Amino acid sequence: MITHLDFAARDVATKRALESLSLSVAKCKKIVVVTGAGISCSSGIPDFRSSDGLYALVKEQYPDVVLKGRDLFDASLFRDSTSTAVFHTFIAQLKQSIDAAEPGPTHHFIQTLDGKKKLLRSYTQNIDGFEARVGLLGSGSHEAKSEGKGKSKLRTKDVKNVQLHGDIHRVRCRSCSAEYPCSREYLDIFLQGDAPDCPECLGRAKARAARSARTIKVGSLRPAIVLYDEPHPLGDEIGLIQSSDLTRKPDMLIIMGTSLKVHGLKKLVKEFARTVHGHSTDSPKPNSKKHAGKVIFVNRTPPSSEWNGIIDFHVEGTTDEWVARVLEEWKKSRPQDWEVQKTLVAAENGDVSMSSPLNFKVVASTKDRTKKETKKKPRNDGENVPPTHESTDMVLSTPDIAATIAKSGAFFTQTPPLSPSKRRQTNSHYTSESSPSKRRTLSPMKGLDDSARGLLFGVPQTSSMDLDVFDDLSMESPVKSKAKPLRRGRSTVRPLEL
Ligand SMILES: [Zn+2]
Repeated sequence: MITHLDFAARDVATKRALESLSLSVAKCKKIVVVTGAGISCSSGIPDFRSSDGLYALVKEQYPDVVLKGRDLFDASLFRDSTSTAVFHTFIAQLKQSIDAAEPGPTHHFIQTLDGKKKLLRSYTQNIDGFEARVGLLGSGSHEAKSEGKGKSKLRTKDVKNVQLHGDIHRVRCRSCSAEYPCSREYLDIFLQGDAPDCPECLGRAKARAARSARTIKVGSLRPAIVLYDEPHPLGDEIGLIQSSDLTRKPDMLIIMGTSLKVHGLKKLVKEFARTVHGHSTDSPKPNSKKHAGKVIFVNRTPPSSEWNGIIDFHVEGTTDEWVARVLEEWKKSRPQDWEVQKTLVAAENGDVSMSSPLNFKVVASTKDRTKKETKKKPRNDGENVPPTHESTDMVLSTPDIAATIAKSGAFFTQTPPLSPSKRRQTNSHYTSESSPSKRRTLSPMKGLDDSARGLLFGVPQTSSMDLDVFDDLSMESPVKSKAKPLRRGRSTVRPLEL
């Protein structure tokens, strides 16, 4: 049975259940996270289907081309030079939008799980690479590959985020498979609908010409995303990562922002769910690990009945709202988990040097935060947290540090604070772990209306339609595309079917 928890509900039972879930997240140690387009929804990536979106721009450039979204992401597009050109332009424009956007609260939350040593692995269908921007090494990144002769290998242990559909920030040679970052130069070529020559192939061709050997074909570069009906170039390695994660017995599975329609992803989720559930019954002492063994699904639309017995909880709401709540309740219920970081901030604050007025931003957030948490105190009092003697921060355990913060906080209100390098550290601390309201203020998507906030290849969450990246791609008629939904599902994530 799936327990539905409406995020907006105000009744005590729902509140308690959500609180208990948050506490479980805080207690688990090997969490697997599976995500889809819904988690990038709030980052302001334009919905390519909306009239003023990317597709309209592509249409301007190619007025005579009629291409459905799905055809634009099918491996067969390379058979035709026009559809190849449209594909290049489209992806380049999409990449530009992604470059201009920022990771959202959910991406930061996954990073926080990793920072707290709770993340076993993140698997995403998204190609936006936002996970890498918050510091999670992606399977598509250059740093994830070990250098060596021949084909480079993936350093599976270091990969934190498995990119099931590739990475829009990388390009790959269609001939020799050499990979490169998508540079500005490449991007400009793609924007024109063309494709850059592969440097690796060019080098080899030159060398052959120099020794008068037979000439070889120079391959062209393409965006390193996985299209329908083509295998993932890292399929074998991703399969290995998944097997290894299953062996390590994850104690929680969190699925966010995906409607779970793609065949390969379904399979992956089911396998992890089975292992996670096994975890809860494996425990030698019954009830000793009540927090473990949960499969949580956070999405605006509920899972179908197919997921009975696989998903335990459906949290109905946006992933951003949910992660904000989890963090809030985690900090309240297990303040000890957050102590070290606050101590570091205190130490930083003690080391004050002159710097630019820009720092006042940080100062303000430090101050506000203190104020805010002070206000929350009465609530904390009911939580069996021993009262501290200072009114500053409930979380701090030693009076010394509390005093330091109190002192430095007051000091900061009148003095230009930290050096730029310090600032960066402090800043990131607060951007990744500040309160939900703070994060919302910092978020770049604020000014965007709902229609502009789409997903990579999906539809806005306000719709009940499918949210998966490769699920629902028709630009002309989303409904029509649903009529033949699974044509390429199997092959899209084929490598995972090991
Ligand atoms: Zn090449």
